[in-house]
Amino acid sequence: MIATTGLAYRYAGGTEIRFPDVAVPQGGVLLLQGPSGAGKSTWLALAAALLRPAAGHITVAAQDLAALGKVAGDAWRARAVGFLPQKLHLSDALTVAGNLAMAQWAAGAAEDAVAIHDALEALGLADLATRRPSQLSGGQAQRVALARAVLLRPRIILADEPTASLDDDAARAALGLLQASAARCGATLVIATHDSRVAAGLPVAAVCRLGAKIAATAP
Ligand code: ADP
Ligand code: MG
Repeated sequence: MIATTGLAYRYAGGTEIRFPDVAVPQGGVLLLQGPSGAGKSTWLALAAALLRPAAGHITVAAQDLAALGKVAGDAWRARAVGFLPQKLHLSDALTVAGNLAMAQWAAGAAEDAVAIHDALEALGLADLATRRPSQLSGGQAQRVALARAVLLRPRIILADEPTASLDDDAARAALGLLQASAARCGATLVIATHDSRVAAGLPVAAVCRLGAKIAATAP
């Protein structure tokens, strides 16, 4: 599950974002909606414990993230969070399988070739395991990033604008794969998007609508 109360974040420049309270049960789909600049990516960074709230609480899978220090936050993220960023950050120095092995290594997990094969297979990527990311289509690269995100069976999957720049068919396919991947690990799925096609394409448990930011002034 994910629940927030009174959640707010303040950037060093003075921009303060206050988020509406939201709750979604474990395994549900949460949509984070709002125009560009509303704070969707900031919310995802808070849910990944990459940022700490300026006020309020965010609880993910029974863990209050505001209570975590940096080291505990990093360990928690490696164990519990699957992140599908807007920029995929795949390394072209490595093969597709190598990128997944790197994710296991970075999380302190043992290298597990069977888990890598299974994750690639589930996303129709088994034949591409020895390619470099630059030899993939955009959709294939996104599926590799999704395979990497779910490799360690996270409790939550955070996807930042996963349908941006996809046509209708590709967007539908991407959402279906996200949902199936989340269901396979029992993960709660959070999709941040300003794409109105997303709400129509998914069984959404909760919607968090972010508006214009509250304050952009220096303290
Ligand atoms: P969204 O993902 O909805 O487009 P963001 O979470 O990226 O919105 O940004 C929310 C607000 O915070 C914007 O006004 C943005 O300019 C500001 N912001 C984002 N990142 C930073 C940063 N590193 N430093 C200062 N302000 C930032
Ligand atoms: Mg964003």
